[in-house]
Amino acid sequence: MNSIIFILLSLSFLWALYALIPAIILKRYVTYTSPVIHELVRVSGVRVRVVIKRDASVNAFSLPNNVIVITEGLANQGQDNLRSALAHEVGHLKGFHHVKTFLLLTCLTGISIFLIMNVNIIVGIVLMLIGIIIMRYTSRLFEFWADKYAVSLVGKSQYIQLLTLNMDPKERSTMFSTHPTIMNRLKKI
Ligand SMILES: [Zn+2]
Repeated sequence: MNSIIFILLSLSFLWALYALIPAIILKRYVTYTSPVIHELVRVSGVRVRVVIKRDASVNAFSLPNNVIVITEGLANQGQDNLRSALAHEVGHLKGFHHVKTFLLLTCLTGISIFLIMNVNIIVGIVLMLIGIIIMRYTSRLFEFWADKYAVSLVGKSQYIQLLTLNMDPKERSTMFSTHPTIMNRLKKI
């Protein structure tokens, strides 16, 4: 098969996943409303929809379609912690982190497949591995950026309260980690 067609097919598969995953997740959760959300939308200028997941752990993540998923565990941590967690996710959306990550993934995948098929399989696989490290490094940079943005919205002491809520002193970060340790995040804000 022509390598360009194969690359385009592979990338189309990635793009389909990128479009479908948020839609599938959205169907599973119900909308969550709070004055905190309206306040963050107003100060950030980012229009978000928040949905809630039945889960006792404290967690939140955002999707490319400006939807933020929060857990019941986080919603039960009080309005201040909820505001801080949402502000962090708004930071990811404000900085277009999902789009940037996806574009980087698209480029690295396309180039790697091209090299595997046309140049040398080893060179292509090595670029893929380097790509994974670059993606993880970028992900950690985006975490720091979202933290800084959240601090600008909710204030440092409020945000530190959220970060220390679930801090694990034994937590370690490597070049393959998607998130820096809470300790490193505290140092950077
Ligand atoms: Zn984050």
